[in-house]
Amino acid sequence: MTGQVITHRHDDYLRDLLQRAGLRATRQRLGLAELIFGRGERHLTAEELYGEAIQAGMRLSQTTVYNTLHQFTEAGLLREILADPRRIYFDTNVDPHHHFLDEDTGEMEDIPMDSVSVMGLPTPPAGKMIEGVDVIVRVRRPDTH
Ligand SMILES: [Zn+2]
Repeated sequence: MTGQVITHRHDDYLRDLLQRAGLRATRQRLGLAELIFGRGERHLTAEELYGEAIQAGMRLSQTTVYNTLHQFTEAGLLREILADPRRIYFDTNVDPHHHFLDEDTGEMEDIPMDSVSVMGLPTPPAGKMIEGVDVIVRVRRPDTH
């Protein structure tokens, strides 16, 4: 069971990660954290994570998955990306960066911050300053016919 091996290797690390973020390391949070953070950098939706959790044999509701993702986001462990009104991605890379979004597959890929320069930004409304610009470059395969 490769899954078991990974669990044990990551367990202390994940427990630590949650505790440093101010979250109690419950079994459910640890289980979800393993799925989220145990596989390298990821962009995943709540639906995907729920599917993975069920597959991994966890017994939990979709609401628990949503709540946990939002707790992780608020604690700074994840970054929320609103790709379109129907899809929210949770990104394990919380450093500022941009994204390619494959419109056909829904797959997201990082673009380093310094590979994009945004020019000609409008003057922000009175009394406000620009905090950041997140670029989503939408891609698809060219039509082959
Ligand atoms: Zn990303």
